[in-house]
Amino acid sequence: MLHSNLSINEKGHLCLAGRDVCELAERYGTPLFLMDEERIRRNARTYIDAMAEFMPEGSRPLLASKSCCFKRLYEIVAEEGMGTDLVSPGELYTAAAAGFPLENAFFHGNNKTDADIEYAISSGVGYFIVDNREELDAINETAREKGIVQKILLRLSPGIDPHTQKKISTGKVDSKFGTAIETGQAVELCRYALTLEAVALKGFHCHIGSQIFEYSSFADAAEIMLRFIRELYDDCGFETEMLNLGGGFGVRYVESDPEIDYRENIKGLAGVIDRLCGRLSVKKPSILMEPGRSIVADSGVTVYSVGSVKTITGYKSYVSVDGGMPDNPRYALYESDYTCLVANKADEEADFVATVAGRCCESGDLIQEDVALARPERGDYLAVLVTGAYNYSMASNYNRIPRPPVVMVNEGKDYVAVKRETFEDLLRNDI
Ligand SMILES: *Cc1c(COP(=O)(O)O)cnc(C)c1O
Repeated sequence: MLHSNLSINEKGHLCLAGRDVCELAERYGTPLFLMDEERIRRNARTYIDAMAEFMPEGSRPLLASKSCCFKRLYEIVAEEGMGTDLVSPGELYTAAAAGFPLENAFFHGNNKTDADIEYAISSGVGYFIVDNREELDAINETAREKGIVQKILLRLSPGIDPHTQKKISTGKVDSKFGTAIETGQAVELCRYALTLEAVALKGFHCHIGSQIFEYSSFADAAEIMLRFIRELYDDCGFETEMLNLGGGFGVRYVESDPEIDYRENIKGLAGVIDRLCGRLSVKKPSILMEPGRSIVADSGVTVYSVGSVKTITGYKSYVSVDGGMPDNPRYALYESDYTCLVANKADEEADFVATVAGRCCESGDLIQEDVALARPERGDYLAVLVTGAYNYSMASNYNRIPRPPVVMVNEGKDYVAVKRETFEDLLRNDI
């Protein structure tokens, strides 16, 4: 199937990590987020091992928290040796609650408030990834008051369009993120950062976008960043210790997406970085990457119960499920591709073309349009594959629908990592 942790058993049921998805849905109810713990660990190790083997000393991956964020996930990736990047105090709070070593946490965001900065410094966050000058001043001020020196990276925009979807491309000059190299503002910001007493500049960050299937765009970004690092050295003698190339390696959501070998891509990118450092006479910085999707996406399967199956004569068919945009807003947001199948009929011919719709009062509440399914009936289980990233983390309570639980499967066992929300949870803050 799409990924090696997916299979079909003798009953014709879809399995995740060898576990019958329908049995789990029976036990835990639907909608249900399932995640394969071993797959998360394997993905983490792929990055950790390849970066340790091919890249300069100190190179390592950081989990992009926005892709998926709950306590148990931080425990898992910390055990494997990943750091993390966070974009909000809420993510930081979750990591801290999980006992995540915050010296390995990098705090992102294009608009950190004074309260965010205060909170992150008090929590002992390892690094700030500074987006702009006002933020730099605010961090310097708070760190000075607290009598510490805060380590920082500066987020720069390298001016690259990685040919991915517009809404998930972020490294262009015209972007709300970072400070542009092309306009000269990046050099100015560095010179200024170096005059501040309570911040210690360690290096630079860039992030060019998401769903990138081969390393050439990263190599282009690395070249721009390393040229900048060289120029900065000539300008003021600053030696860069860390270069963070962001996240964005792609994931296979549908059969037509390529399979991607992360190890080979990291090796290829490492070779380019090595040669560039040689050619530019730049002292090799340690490399950081911020994979999100490629760590968690293929660990996840969402299971729904099928409700109504409606064929509009002369038009098309709709299969409605008991979840939708509250647990997976990505089709509504980006028209993202997903693979859908009837989990209890996984071995049957998929000859019924339908649009899979959610239960909300929105015509845009769709999971996927015009997909071929085994003939679905009320009470069947419908599985959406590769939902480990940007599903739970983007979930909302729209229409007052409680969020589904996250159940982990691991080595023949299963456990609840995040409980299903209750109606009481929905009222928790209502006065
Ligand atoms: C979104 C994002 C990531 C993660 O991207 P993936 O496509 O999930 O790997 C990493 N770093 C930054 C700064 C991001 O904005």
